[in-house]
Amino acid sequence: RSWPTRQNSKHLSHILDSLKRSSVLSEWDIPYEELEIQDLIGAGRFGRVFKGKWHGDVAIKVFNIETDNDLQLASFKTEVSMFRKTRHENLVLFMGACMKLPHLAIVTSLCKGKTLYDTVRDRRETLNMSRIVNIATQIAQGMGYLHAREILHKDLKSKNIFLENGKVVITDFGLFSVTKLIQYGERKDDTLAIPPGWLPYLAPEVITSLRATSQYTDSDLPFSQASDVYAFGTVWYELLVGDLPFKTQPAESIIWQVGKGLRQSPSNVQSRDAKDILMQCWKTQPDKRPQFSDLTQTLDRLPRKRLTRSPSTPLHLSRSAES
Ligand code: ATP
Repeated sequence: RSWPTRQNSKHLSHILDSLKRSSVLSEWDIPYEELEIQDLIGAGRFGRVFKGKWHGDVAIKVFNIETDNDLQLASFKTEVSMFRKTRHENLVLFMGACMKLPHLAIVTSLCKGKTLYDTVRDRRETLNMSRIVNIATQIAQGMGYLHAREILHKDLKSKNIFLENGKVVITDFGLFSVTKLIQYGERKDDTLAIPPGWLPYLAPEVITSLRATSQYTDSDLPFSQASDVYAFGTVWYELLVGDLPFKTQPAESIIWQVGKGLRQSPSNVQSRDAKDILMQCWKTQPDKRPQFSDLTQTLDRLPRKRLTRSPSTPLHLSRSAES
């Protein structure tokens, strides 16, 4: 009888791993027929989101994945196996997924509140500073949990944050892949379609890695915990100012400015502390940005009364802290 060679045992452990993964995954498999799909809520870069029923109200994200694309199917399953590790009150509840072609979908709890994007722009909404700090803290806590589990959001933005009776619910984490980017708009060689409102959340190291090509894979863009922190900085800016930085500027100009180390500063915000948080998150060097656990502590120490929120969009630019 022969002993297993090193190559054989590697092969064996690979088979065992994938068996284990598929049995874990099957616990989260929802047969597509069990879902009652109702109204369309909206369409994003990678598919459509429907309101539906599955043991109560749910949101169903149906993916446009080409049926013959094994790589996309594999990356979908990897994302699903990561989702089951997320249990935090500020993260949308993952309930399961339809994993059999041609129906690929993710089922989560239905967020009934408004997005942060709509909230900060609603003139009737009074966001005092203590509420702003409270919202930012909840976001930082949810994100800190994701990072502790080694999951990157990669697409943190105010449209992916819901507010439900004062509670923050973060959605769409880990779902970003550049495939989404390519699926936005038409597929053409040597062009990069940039979804509206995306660039202000992109860290300089990510922005400067964008290339005009349709051949991207997810790993081509250097997303990291630090790039999630940069995106949080932009959400903090929106909370303070009520709009996005570089709001009316064309994509080329944003890419150039951010690449050069220029950032928009919220000139009408009086508090140095609030501006400091922004500049820390928006630092050019990724390793100089704080972690979410640091941010939670900093937010907790903010003297809330001295902070004032600006109602108008400022136009000033400032250099990022270390450049
Ligand atoms: P992008 O593809 O650029 O991320 P998006 O965030 O608008 O754009 P989706 O994430 O596909 O795209 O969302 C489509 C719509 O569904 C949005 O209006 C979003 O607010 C809504 N939505 C997403 N998840 C949920 C949820 N769990 N509960 C309620 N509505 C949701």
